[in-house]
Amino acid sequence: MSLNGRNVAVFALGGTIATATHPATGGAVPALSAKELLENVPGLDALGVRLHVHDFRRLPSASLSLADLDALHAEIRAELAPEAVDGVVVVQGTDTIEETAFYLDLLHRGDAPIVVTGAMRGPTLPGSDGPANLNAAVIAAAGPWLRGAGCVVVLGDQIHAARTVQKSHTVSPAAFTSPGCGPLGLVAEGRVRLYQRLPHRTACPPGDEGAASTSAVRVALHTVTLGDDGTQLDLLDGHCDSLVLAALGAGHVPEWLVPRLRRLAERIPVVLTSRIGNGPVLTRTYSSPGSERDLPANGLIPGGDLNPYKARLLLHRLLTTGCHDRARIALAFATAGIAPARPRAPSACQ
Ligand code: ASP
Repeated sequence: MSLNGRNVAVFALGGTIATATHPATGGAVPALSAKELLENVPGLDALGVRLHVHDFRRLPSASLSLADLDALHAEIRAELAPEAVDGVVVVQGTDTIEETAFYLDLLHRGDAPIVVTGAMRGPTLPGSDGPANLNAAVIAAAGPWLRGAGCVVVLGDQIHAARTVQKSHTVSPAAFTSPGCGPLGLVAEGRVRLYQRLPHRTACPPGDEGAASTSAVRVALHTVTLGDDGTQLDLLDGHCDSLVLAALGAGHVPEWLVPRLRRLAERIPVVLTSRIGNGPVLTRTYSSPGSERDLPANGLIPGGDLNPYKARLLLHRLLTTGCHDRARIALAFATAGIAPARPRAPSACQ
């Protein structure tokens, strides 16, 4: 299919893909503008896609904040409101892509796809993957194939759902995976090939619809470790509005943590996830103290298939938009889980 005359908005946020060598330190720092990034992509002009270019930030992705993403989403909405573009490409560092993409997926309504990309190897390195990733992202955003898919991540020609994608390697060019289900599809020969049904999505109201300020909500994340004596949980107590627990295995903690967790869950939402990042927390298999059956009985909310980082973002959105009710939070987590057979329309968080 020809993409000639299609329109794509490109937002550049920085990251390895936009790096140049710093003259004083000799290290790589984000430096290239969105226009410079696009000029480095061989063959992009030949697609005939009209690019609407935005220099949004020029940061390492570790320094992006949720407030930055709220502002980015507002700009994306402004581009999409009059249906001026067919899709959106967000270009950023890979360190936080799995979180930024999921956060944008929670905010995004409408059918135009948001495609997030980056690079594992910067422009000064042999085998730099930025131009190919950007080219694939523009194709994915410009065409009709991903309408209704929400936010996806395209790297190494693979298309991953925001809900499932993870950075699974610190340096490999094939760092991005969707554990347990694999990528949605592939970009090849100028088009998208889908291997799976487009994912069920959960969309939350955006932050400017009567919501609390994003930065006012504090969602802590605690990873349970062998012999965890609860000291860190005690330190968090009173300093967060909610907690995501990255538990052992399928949702297990040492039994001596249970009274602490129960006391916390009496006051704030505590969501149970697994630190493994692949597979769901169970709900009805083990029943020892500290198991996945015992913890919900003590007030914890099962996090389903969401990894701890994504669970933290969903919980953040729920609290920011005024959803504090335990049953409604539990329902949001139950419906946000991986359910390939469900319909494509996003369900609302509340
Ligand atoms: N540190 C970089 C970042 O901004 C890494 C990358 O882009 O791959 O996330």
